[in-house]
Formats: sequence, structure tokens, C-alpha cells
Amino acid sequence: MRRFSYVIPKSLDEAISLMESYGEKARYVAGGTDLLVKLKEGKIRPEYLVSLKHIPSMDRIELNQGGNGHCILGALVTHRMIETSRAIRWSYPILHDAVSNIGSVQIRNVATIGGNLVNAVPSADGAIPLVTLDARVKIQGPKGSREMELLHFFVGPGQTVLDRGEILTEILLPPQPPRTGSAYIKFGRREAMELPLLGVGVLLSLDEQMRHCTKARIGLGVAAPTPMRAWQAEAFLEGKELSEAVLEEAGKIAAEESRVRDSVRGAAWYRREMVRVLVKRMGMRCLERIKALG
Ligand SMILES: Cc1cc2nc3c(=O)[nH]c(=O)nc-3n(C[C@H](O)[C@H](O)[C@H](O)COP(=O)(O)OP(=O)(O)OC[C@H]3O[C@@H](n4cnc5c(N)ncnc54)[C@H](O)[C@@H]3O)c2cc1C
Repeated sequence: MRRFSYVIPKSLDEAISLMESYGEKARYVAGGTDLLVKLKEGKIRPEYLVSLKHIPSMDRIELNQGGNGHCILGALVTHRMIETSRAIRWSYPILHDAVSNIGSVQIRNVATIGGNLVNAVPSADGAIPLVTLDARVKIQGPKGSREMELLHFFVGPGQTVLDRGEILTEILLPPQPPRTGSAYIKFGRREAMELPLLGVGVLLSLDEQMRHCTKARIGLGVAAPTPMRAWQAEAFLEGKELSEAVLEEAGKIAAEESRVRDSVRGAAWYRREMVRVLVKRMGMRCLERIKALG
């Protein structure tokens, strides 16, 4: 592995200006779990690694931000911090489901949610629950800051909208209506230490009578080159009285609109079939969770 200098800026501005002066020779690093693998394999050969780890307040979880129920996740929040947050487990169980099965505890202790998003592999477990939750992201760079829907952050496998020097700083989660349940499943041969063959996230909200669906969100991973939403299946569910049969139909619609492909890890027909099965299964889990809320 080629030698590199490890630089530790103490503020966002310092990190951005370091990156401007080093140019192509530098890379940002957070937990390093993706980056170090690429370094060892010689896929990247930076002269400088600019650490984001010591920038204040980028590792904070703030719930009920501003009293309006919004949640802020700093990009440096580790998967383990999310996994062990009782408040996240209560308010956004879909996120807890997803991070609990990333790598191992050792990986989760250092790997960050921001690094997972910026790495942008189609199988990133952190991305699907966040896309299902309508998350937005904040970005800061040499030209200032900007904010956008997370769904639009991904451009292709391994590619995001980030320009050179830009840092993903925060993930913003909107509050959820009452009587909302959400769930994520990482589907693969093994749950831990393996990237998913498919990732499926579902969020459902019910009306006061606990019958009709007032809000439906379905996020799919490894079903397209970037994380996707099953818009037609969501539209089908909204306003419907929810039952097993209705969720089954939503699964069929989601399977049809998915853009699954054959790969060495799974055939397209099999992935499509699993979208059908898992959308229904996660829909049922959402309903169980809403009932458990009382
Ligand atoms: C053994 C093992 C098992 C794994 N299992 C899983 C799994 O089950 N599911 C899964 O989804 N992933 C898994 N991963 C991948 C990895 O752990 C995650 O993607 C992790 O969240 C990456 O975060 P990080 O902080 O380590 O990123 P880093 O490696 O530090 O960075 C990743 C990339 O993002 C850039 N970057 C990081 N943070 C920022 C930021 N805030 N702004 C701008 N650029 C940034 C870096 O320059 C780099 O290009 C696994 C990895 C290993 C080694």
C-alpha cells in the first residue's frame, strides 16, 4: 500500500480548504471501512487522507429538532450510534432494522452513515431506509452549502452529486404522522457480514380508525443502479383499506416497476420475485408495529 499523510482538520472550512489545495491528490475519510479496502486493493492512491472525524457536531443525533419533530443525523454518526439510540428505534424503527445488520459490531463502531451514502454502492444498507423516510441531505463545499432530497443524491453505482471538495454534513428526517410503522429487510444468503441481494424498506401510516392507508413509502435497494422508490405501488396503497391481499398486490406492482438485473449474486427473475414477497412481508410488519404502538 502506498504511503499517505493523514491530516486532521478541526473545522468544515479547514477541511474544505485543505481539499482545495491538495486537489486530486487527497480524499476525505470518515470511518475508513470502505476507503481502506480500496486503498489496500490499489484502486485509489491518494497522497493525503483528510479526516472528517474531528470536526465538531458532525456526529450528533438530534431528535425533535426545533420542536417540530424533525431529526438531524450528522454524517459522522456511526451505525452503532444509530443502532443503540432508543429514540431512533422508537421513532424510525426502519433505520434501526437496517443498521443492526451492517457488517459486524466492530465495523458498525467506526463506519458512518455519511460514508455509507457517499460510497453509493447499490447495496448500501443505510440508503434504503433513509430514502423510504423521505430524508434530505445537507452538503457544504467550496461554493457554499446546498440541500436536496437524498433520492437525488445518487447518480449511478458509486456516484453521487458531490463535487470535488464537497462534504455531506447532515441527513434530515421529517417527522412521521401518528400511527406510522416502518420496517427494512436486508435479504441475502446471510444477514451479517454480507451485502444484501436486495434491500426492501416500507413505511405505512393509518387513519384514526386504523384501517385506511394515509401514507405509503416503498424503498428498494439493488433493484436499480441507485436506490429507488416504488412510486406506483405507493400510489396504489394510499387511500386503500389495508389487508394482506392489498399488500400482496402492492408487492406485485413494486416488482413490476423495479429495474432488477442479473448479477453473479442473483438472477433478475429471482430478485423481482423477492421484491413481491418482501414488500408484502414488510408491509405486514409495519401493521404489526402500528398495532404495538397502541
Ligand atoms: C467487513 C465489512 C462489512 C461491511 N458490511 C456492510 C453491510 O452489511 N452493509 C453496508 O451497507 N455496508 C457494509 N460495509 C461497507 C462500509 O462499512 C459502509 O459503507 C460504511 O458505512 C462506510 O462508512 P465509513 O465511515 O467507513 O466510510 P469511509 O470509508 O471513510 O468513506 C467512504 C467514502 O465516502 C467518502 N466520505 C465519507 N464520509 C464523507 C462525507 N461526510 N462527505 C463526503 N465524503 C465522505 C470517502 O472519501 C470515501 O470515498 C462493510 C464493510 C466492511 C469492510
